[in-house]
Amino acid sequence: MTTLPGSVVTRFAPSPTGLLHIGHARAALIAAQAAGPNGKFLLRIEDIDQGRCRPEFTPAIFEDLAWLGLSWPEPVRRQAAHFADYEGPLQTLRARKLIYPCFCTRGDIRREIESAGHAPHRLQNQGPDGPIYPGTCRNLDPMEAAGRMKGCTPFAWRLDVARARSTVGELTWHDERAGTVNATPEIFGDVVLARKDTPTSYHLACTWDDALQGVTLVTRGEELFAATHVHRLLQALLGLPTPQYAHHGLISWPDGKKFSKSDRAITLRSLREAGHSADTVRRMALGELALPMASA
Ligand code: GLU
Repeated sequence: MTTLPGSVVTRFAPSPTGLLHIGHARAALIAAQAAGPNGKFLLRIEDIDQGRCRPEFTPAIFEDLAWLGLSWPEPVRRQAAHFADYEGPLQTLRARKLIYPCFCTRGDIRREIESAGHAPHRLQNQGPDGPIYPGTCRNLDPMEAAGRMKGCTPFAWRLDVARARSTVGELTWHDERAGTVNATPEIFGDVVLARKDTPTSYHLACTWDDALQGVTLVTRGEELFAATHVHRLLQALLGLPTPQYAHHGLISWPDGKKFSKSDRAITLRSLREAGHSADTVRRMALGELALPMASA
């Protein structure tokens, strides 16, 4: 994939877990607008979560985006078709002893946090994705870990974030609204880079693919702002370029309540079937027109 020097490459990267809704339309339109007429707008299907993603939603995404008036180059990258690609970066990190196998179940993690005298809901144990991993498997005896892996105990690969940080020093990234941001990936604790059920994770697959696809500007909703701290660390560890970031505000209901990802009330399909034109829906998505109903 070649890009003209200086031309902007953006992407919209939905997970096919349901029909696209007005919040997705906003993210897609902002990415396409940011690419502008001379840049490139990519579509990527982030379908690594085989439990939550459904194959029928991928063609529905294509159909809804085309109806909105968007176009993108083919082939569209579908992450689940490229699981082998994420083995290379994991191997690099493994060779540098920056990741370790973690055999803990959710229950183990909860019990460990509780036995350390902290309630899991207490603020200091909470990262942006939930309770911070207490580090149980970080110092597991390597022989013991190897034995469990051989014995087919399911395991995830976690990043030793303190060790990883110490190898790269201070890091910053740039967000269009926030300006220069100091990277603080430690707020997540030792994040999972390859899950028990999937040989990668959102953080690894997204960071790797943004670099692989030559994305120069990552636009996405502000709910993913914190994730960029981890992505910046992975870029430094793996020698990947750092794109610019523009985390945008989320769409609101007419009563001011933020529209959330789990809010399935306004799908593009239902708006289309209710007779709204693509132009009207585009304007709703960009906040130029109010949504046709209040939050539930
Ligand atoms: N696949 C993610 C989602 O649907 C978006 C990831 C991103 O834009 O970085 O929430």
